[in-house]
Amino acid sequence: MAQLNAKRFAMQRLDENAALVLFSGGQDSSIALAWALTKFARVETIGFDYGQRHAVELGARSAVRREIERRFPALAPKLQSDAVVNLSGLGDISETALTREVEIAMSENGLPTTFVPGRNLVFLTMAAAYAYRRDLGVVVAGMCEADFSGYPDCRRAALDALMVAIEHGMDATFRLETPLMHLSKAQSWLLAEEIGGPRLVDMLVEHTHSCYRGVRSVRRDWGYGCGECPACDLRAKGWSGYIAAKSCERPRA
Ligand code: ZN
Repeated sequence: MAQLNAKRFAMQRLDENAALVLFSGGQDSSIALAWALTKFARVETIGFDYGQRHAVELGARSAVRREIERRFPALAPKLQSDAVVNLSGLGDISETALTREVEIAMSENGLPTTFVPGRNLVFLTMAAAYAYRRDLGVVVAGMCEADFSGYPDCRRAALDALMVAIEHGMDATFRLETPLMHLSKAQSWLLAEEIGGPRLVDMLVEHTHSCYRGVRSVRRDWGYGCGECPACDLRAKGWSGYIAAKSCERPRA
């Protein structure tokens, strides 16, 4: 982070062994949560309700937290408070396929209609404000540059620029961790396996949610979803890449 000049007050040093995870209940943020639980002594979660169509993803949050506690008793004591922040105003002004009934497609500027302008910038700012109050010095987020959609606010450069502004504006030290930033979806499943073995992978398949259409009635190898929307497509491809990578790792008979 950039050095701050002309400090009038001592910069607030937040607890570097305590993390706040931006947690949506989706695959990436759930892996980021599991990662954080292996790295930090105290982990809290925050989610945002901005009127998204896949509100079922928000419902997945409590299931994932509950299953981590149930299946990983050694990590459970580290998993602490959860907060859901109402950001319905973001949905009101964004007008995208995630917040109203618009066909999910590519628009003329090369971004999908699911793009909510500035969404991650708003999330990160809100998360930092919350982390400041709760003495959490690390913000963990599952953003990923390899995301199919190329959302510009998933890029590390955009997030780093915002973190400089946040440090200046709050006069506090934060560290941003994005463990999935340069991983493909297949590699992120491999990371999950490395963190928690098949037990974690199975839990993520069963309880995390990605489908933009919110379908939970159809179970596939990679979890629940319509199987047709871009999020399902991405998840299915990532899963088959993961299975292929695992079969390459096995010693030949
Ligand atoms: Zn879907």
